[in-house]
Amino acid sequence: MDNMKYLYKNHPDGAAHLWDDGDTYCRQFSTGGLNPRRYHVFDETGGRRICKMCNDVFEEYSGYRIEDNN
Ligand SMILES: [Zn+2]
Repeated sequence: MDNMKYLYKNHPDGAAHLWDDGDTYCRQFSTGGLNPRRYHVFDETGGRRICKMCNDVFEEYSGYRIEDNN
C-alpha cells in the first residue's frame, strides 16, 4: 500500500487512522470524532499503531490489513 495516507496528531501516542480522500476508514473524521485542527495527513505511520476500526473496514474493502509497526 504505497499510496496509503494516514491521519494522526503530532503527538507520538495515539493511533494512525487510514485516510481515504476526505475521511478516515472508521468514519470518525466525518462524524466529528477527530478534531480537524489537530489531525494532519501523512504518507507514513511514523511508527504509530493503526486504528483497529480503520483496519477492519479497510480489510473488508481490500482483503488486506495494513501492517502494524508496533
Ligand atoms: Zn480510524
